Amino acid sequence: QPLLLVENLVTSFPLEGGGRIHAVNGVDLGLQRGETLGIVGESGCGKSTLVRSILRLVEPASGRVRFEGEDLLGLSKPALRRRRRDMQLVFQDPMASLDPRFTVGRSLAEPLVVHGLGNRAERQARVAELLETVGLDPGAASRYPHEFSGGQRQRIGIARAIALAPKLVVLDEPVSALDVSIQSQVLNLLMDLKERLGLSYLFISHDLGVVHAISDRVAVMYLGRIVETASAERLFTDPAHPYTEALLAAVPQPDPARRRRRAPLEGEPPSPERPPSGCPFHPRCPKAMAVCRAVVPEPRQLSAGHEVRCHLYG
Ligand code: SF4
Ligand code: MG
Repeated sequence: QPLLLVENLVTSFPLEGGGRIHAVNGVDLGLQRGETLGIVGESGCGKSTLVRSILRLVEPASGRVRFEGEDLLGLSKPALRRRRRDMQLVFQDPMASLDPRFTVGRSLAEPLVVHGLGNRAERQARVAELLETVGLDPGAASRYPHEFSGGQRQRIGIARAIALAPKLVVLDEPVSALDVSIQSQVLNLLMDLKERLGLSYLFISHDLGVVHAISDRVAVMYLGRIVETASAERLFTDPAHPYTEALLAAVPQPDPARRRRRAPLEGEPPSPERPPSGCPFHPRCPKAMAVCRAVVPEPRQLSAGHEVRCHLYG
């Protein structure tokens, strides 16, 4: 049984002038225990809305989300609150989860207080342990978020996310605001924590290079749909979808044997308010055919674990 199973998830928002935007438009995905699934795509493609819908921070319009076999969309609010202990979110900006007026120790103890865990001394000990786990000095507990660098603040954000020993951690662009050298330190910390704590990750980024470094499998998202899913290795060496190829063109390839000429991505993603007919990528696709303008491609399995939505594989 997978840890997480998402089936035909749809999340839509009303438009001011009438009609609806389908920010998430029929997404299927699964996550095994101990696995990292990367979700990659340009900003506005629906990645953040997708994971917020999975956690029910946004209410989906239809579909199914099963966590350890339990239907999350059918849970009452109190049952959902208890379940949230198992599913934590790390934001791009760690200040989104750290109150600048509170010491780091207070922010880290807060989830323990909310869930009624431990007395004051036990919580203090847990906070010290959490800080050490993410590579910070336990003395950080008495300091304030503004006293730390961006990378240190993200370590604190991660410490808060693991405070309740969750099973699933959703990371929404966790290193996008950091310098490249700091990015790899935080990615290494995340990979280390996953092993030590037995975590599973949904890892969102617009940067395919970052996603490749940390993911076991990758799902590529475009305009509310998953257009390709494969192992990270397969997706990087043998992408099938023209959109994935274009994203790869932007990733520096240190190994010249693997450096191929790829057409970079042209233009902006279309507005989800007025999605193109047929394949939503057709206005930007260098390989578009007549059928692409008329018919939405269905998912095709190319090999075990490698799925694509594109008429080139009809
Ligand atoms: Fe390009 Fe057509 Fe494939 Fe869409 S279906 S990605 S337009 S070739
Ligand atoms: Mg986002």
